[in-house]
Amino acid sequence: MEDALRSPVAERVAALGYDFATQPKDRPSSCNLCGSVDRQVEVCRRDRYGLPAACVVCGRCGLGYLSPRLTEAGYASFYATTYRPLVSAYHGRRIDAETVQVDQQGYAASLVALLAPLLARPPATILDVGGSTGVVARAVAGALGGRPTVIDPAPDELAVAATSGLEVISGFAEDFEAGPRRWDLVLMCQTIDHLLDVRRTLVALRGLTADGGRAFVDVLDVELVMRRAGIEGAVKIDHPFYLTGTTAPAFFKLAGYTIVAERLTDDGHRGYVLAPGEPTQPDWAALEAHAVEFLDEIRRQSA
Ligand SMILES: [Zn+2]
Repeated sequence: MEDALRSPVAERVAALGYDFATQPKDRPSSCNLCGSVDRQVEVCRRDRYGLPAACVVCGRCGLGYLSPRLTEAGYASFYATTYRPLVSAYHGRRIDAETVQVDQQGYAASLVALLAPLLARPPATILDVGGSTGVVARAVAGALGGRPTVIDPAPDELAVAATSGLEVISGFAEDFEAGPRRWDLVLMCQTIDHLLDVRRTLVALRGLTADGGRAFVDVLDVELVMRRAGIEGAVKIDHPFYLTGTTAPAFFKLAGYTIVAERLTDDGHRGYVLAPGEPTQPDWAALEAHAVEFLDEIRRQSA
């Protein structure tokens, strides 16, 4: 542990002066996937930045989540001041709105390649939830057609999207009153792990997806990251939630989505192309079996 505390990453993070321990926090009252209140198993007490963040895994369904975690106000302050410098300190290179846009262009190209053969017809409308400066929405619309809309809580990034002619909506998808509006293609890219309520947001996404439309959602598979980096290397305060190839499909079923296609990228992201349908219950017994296996694997990895 002392070696880790003296690592270059830990020194760069410490130099930011972010006092995570004193930030406002609360504990989720129940598991966001299965609703259980007393099945949490603590799996680590420190994250990849060396910050004292505790992660639990639900013994009933296998969902991982931070508990305690920053409050909504705590996260707002974190994203306004600390998130990009912290990620830059971790990687040892500058990561900001500018560099992210370059990364997103490559991401958008691979997303277009995935979606193009799967859409029966070009989308007339595209909604990118958490779409930041609109790089992905613009690239997807440019390649597939469709009028792009970006919804995002960050005003600075949304202002950039607006200057490039995109329709922008300020806020969170789960709070957005869309009335009768629906979108043919709904995207939520590299965002789900950052949410404070995955289940509610996916239900909102389902409500915004047109009949016969499609959605794309990707998750960072914590099992895959853990196999490479250990559980402490997988946990980070910017991710309140830790999903897997088993728990993500369970969330989709509960929200009323069926999986049309799935892809796994080298960085451990599982991307899902989803079709709207009726909400159904996942196989809870299979989820519990997955939870037992996942917790066993974490114990073996941590031993
Ligand atoms: Zn659970």
